[in-house]
Amino acid sequence: MAPLSSYLRALLLALLCLLAAAPANAYNTAVKCHANGSLNENLDRVLQDPGRWSCLQGGYNPAAERTWLSFAIDRASASGPEKLVVRNGRFDQIAITLIGANGEHIDRIFRHDQLTPNSAGPFLSLALPAAPFQPQRIVVAVDQPWSGLTLSETRLLPQGSDGRWSLQILLLTAAAIGLLAAPILLNLAYFAVLRQNFVLWHLVIAMGMLVYALCDSGLIFEFTSVKGDTVATLTMLSQTFAVAASGMFTITVLEPWTAGRSARKMLLVATLGTFLVTGLLALPIDALRETSIYLREASFLPLVVLTSWVVYRAIARGSVAARFQLAAWLPIVIVAIEKAVRNSGLYTAPAIVDHVLFPVLALEVIITSMLVTHRFMAIRRQLDFAVDRADQLRLEAFRDPLTGLHNRKALDSLFASFHAKGFHTVALLDLDSFKIINDTFGHAVGDEVLRATAAALAPDEDTEAVRMGGEEFLLLLRGEAAIERAEQRRNAITLRVASDVPGLDRMVTASMGVVSQAGARMATTDFATLFAHCDRLLYEAKRNGRNRTASERLQTFGERRNGRRASDDKRAAA
Ligand code: GH3
Ligand code: MG
Ligand code: MG
Repeated sequence: MAPLSSYLRALLLALLCLLAAAPANAYNTAVKCHANGSLNENLDRVLQDPGRWSCLQGGYNPAAERTWLSFAIDRASASGPEKLVVRNGRFDQIAITLIGANGEHIDRIFRHDQLTPNSAGPFLSLALPAAPFQPQRIVVAVDQPWSGLTLSETRLLPQGSDGRWSLQILLLTAAAIGLLAAPILLNLAYFAVLRQNFVLWHLVIAMGMLVYALCDSGLIFEFTSVKGDTVATLTMLSQTFAVAASGMFTITVLEPWTAGRSARKMLLVATLGTFLVTGLLALPIDALRETSIYLREASFLPLVVLTSWVVYRAIARGSVAARFQLAAWLPIVIVAIEKAVRNSGLYTAPAIVDHVLFPVLALEVIITSMLVTHRFMAIRRQLDFAVDRADQLRLEAFRDPLTGLHNRKALDSLFASFHAKGFHTVALLDLDSFKIINDTFGHAVGDEVLRATAAALAPDEDTEAVRMGGEEFLLLLRGEAAIERAEQRRNAITLRVASDVPGLDRMVTASMGVVSQAGARMATTDFATLFAHCDRLLYEAKRNGRNRTASERLQTFGERRNGRRASDDKRAAA
């Protein structure tokens, strides 16, 4: 836990430094007061009632049908305000009234799409109408806003100021957004190798955050001509997708033993609920406006609380994934809570606070990418281990434990590949009167004889040996003089047993049936057919007196055999 707590301390320090460095909102050139009312109220009446106005920063009520923002113009300043800048978001319309010293005034109404998006920062702007008199007060009526930020961050700009973010801030924001794009490629590469769901969910998170950051920073206006209110919808929907995908990511990324099934199920329900509710509240449905202002951000809360609980428990159970999750999400949660409170219009914050979001999003995606990599490697290691183990087990299953030769099972699955590699000669060997060895010298000596037999038959580059069971062995051969080489092996058994198993008072011999397809135009790949042939030849060798070989060369399988009995040699007891 030590690295985590030092990380948290560093994080807190960084946030405090940022807040301390935040300059006051430099763009406000005028004292700003506000009053709330309904759409059919007359501005003159509202102006005459000082009790309805508040000149405190904050305390806006975006749920009101209409909010009047009144700016008192400083007469001492040489250059008057020129532009109105509004935080991008949804609203019905904005009416501007310029009022002169003698009560003369001009009104202009602007619909949302008459405001120009400002690519540097999430702002819309419009030029103030020209007046034939010196305005002393400018009143901006905002109808049906969807966020308190539309009220709290609306401001007038003096001549010469364009309200854009500074180049430094823009570059840093763009760099942070660029960092969000990298994990998308990384995840695609990971998913191609390891089809794990959490990789896909991380992909959705990164894409959601990328769209969110592009919209919320206003950079999207630099690349596209999307309308401001469409961007407002896109901002909220991408947030919904990123958060819901994060729920799914948590469910799928936590190590199986660190979060139980019921915890995951609860998270799944919360994720789905959050997705539906916040997604619905993001849509531009007028009837949902008031609910959306206060409930949308709060709707993420149950999921955040539940995730925190699951992550907390997983950390207690030693989950590495959960620690990464905590480190990645804590900064975002802090920033999101601040934004949610500001959204509701309760207070205003210096503009710099908005910029914190982008590095924090980038941090989340980077830490989560580290987690994805970590999990990826862990799963990869598990997989490699499992594959090694499976290989080992398969090898063991294919080996005869007594002799170390391949067994019958191995032959069944390997015959085709051996045959394809040119092993076209098959020899079946059976020890003669082996039962008597067992009966006379005991089973253990019998086993030694079997081991010595296996040593005599030991495979080489062109010979493969198999213990078929009991005292029956099979050779697969390729290359020159295959039948003769099989015969040498058969003879070697007697010598090898004599040298390896002392105390036997008799020679151990073997009988053999060999089928060679060497040089055949069409070699059969059907093992059962070949084996049946060998078995028949072996039986023939036994019947003819044992310690001998019966063999057959086949030209084309299925054709009449050429009938040549290559050898029926009774080996002289040497
Ligand atoms: P034939 O010449 O006709 O082949 O006679 P045989 O005695 O060799 O044949 P039979 O099939 O009558 O006996 C084979 C014996 O092999 C019987 C069985 O107890 C023995 N046997 C089978 N597997 C093993 C083993 O793993 N170890 C030992 N020691 N004996 C085995
Ligand atoms: Mg035998
Ligand atoms: Mg036998």
